Amino acid sequence: MTSAEEELKPYLVVDPHEMSERVDALRRQGKRIGLVPTMGALHLGHLSLAIAAKNECDVTIVSDFVNPTQFAPNEDFDKYPRTLDADIDLLSKIGTDFIFAPSANAMYPRGFDASVRVGGVSQLLEGRFRPTHFDGVCLVVLKLFNITRADVAYFGQKDYQQVQVVKKMVEDLNVPIEIEMLPIIRERDGLAMSSRNRYLSDEERKESLVLNKALDKAEELIKGGERESAVVYDAMRKIIEEAKDAKIDYMHIGDPKSLLEMERISGNVAVLLAVRVGETRLIDNRLIERK
Ligand code: AMP
Repeated sequence: MTSAEEELKPYLVVDPHEMSERVDALRRQGKRIGLVPTMGALHLGHLSLAIAAKNECDVTIVSDFVNPTQFAPNEDFDKYPRTLDADIDLLSKIGTDFIFAPSANAMYPRGFDASVRVGGVSQLLEGRFRPTHFDGVCLVVLKLFNITRADVAYFGQKDYQQVQVVKKMVEDLNVPIEIEMLPIIRERDGLAMSSRNRYLSDEERKESLVLNKALDKAEELIKGGERESAVVYDAMRKIIEEAKDAKIDYMHIGDPKSLLEMERISGNVAVLLAVRVGETRLIDNRLIERK
């Protein structure tokens, strides 16, 4: 590696106290700090967030931490891909300043006993299928906000409900940070990029296209004037059921902020989907704005 490449490598920090100290020094110089929370196994979706942070902030931190508290015991925590070296290489290409990759012990040392719970929007959808998931997300995200003292944190629309939950936490707890949501990055054929896509077999990978196709259909119908959610659900279900290994966890048309379901569509809506393709659970969504 040449020294120029070496210089672009993000600085790896594993100790939360070191992260805070380094950032404090930069904040004292008036630097604007941008944070991109991730679980690693980075792809272009994550990179789009890191690039936005780079463009808008003086200092960028990408956290790379597979957070145990957001996985239920029957979920994929153990097999979740961990690719720290490749992640560092990718971030080198865009000039991220820090990669924060703490151990689970450093984040949750013996005796750790705190919890963070946001009601309302966290209880629906993912909250129903994964009842402890958002408690774990809020806990780790709040810790990351506190450790990095970031001015702004970047999240992907890919996890639309997560963004609404984090925004509600920030509002309810007066957390001094801006939350920015950026669009879903998709593969050429329309599948939303996800670290979990690598679990799909070739056949399942083809079948997974039904999520985006169903959202296209929902958009076409709603923009065409359809007001009955039930009609939109039926059309989406037809498309998803074309994939023999696909099982719908939920289809949901709701208010873009509260996510409360709308039987009759009025104004802007969020359409959210969770579908299991074989053993792999995929989520996707579309924000549909009506003039
Ligand atoms: P994860 O590593 O899955 O926890 O994701 C970290 C962040 O990247 C979250 O804010 C995600 O919403 C975001 N993200 C993941 N996939 C995509 C994607 N395809 N497009 C945009 N953002 C994404």
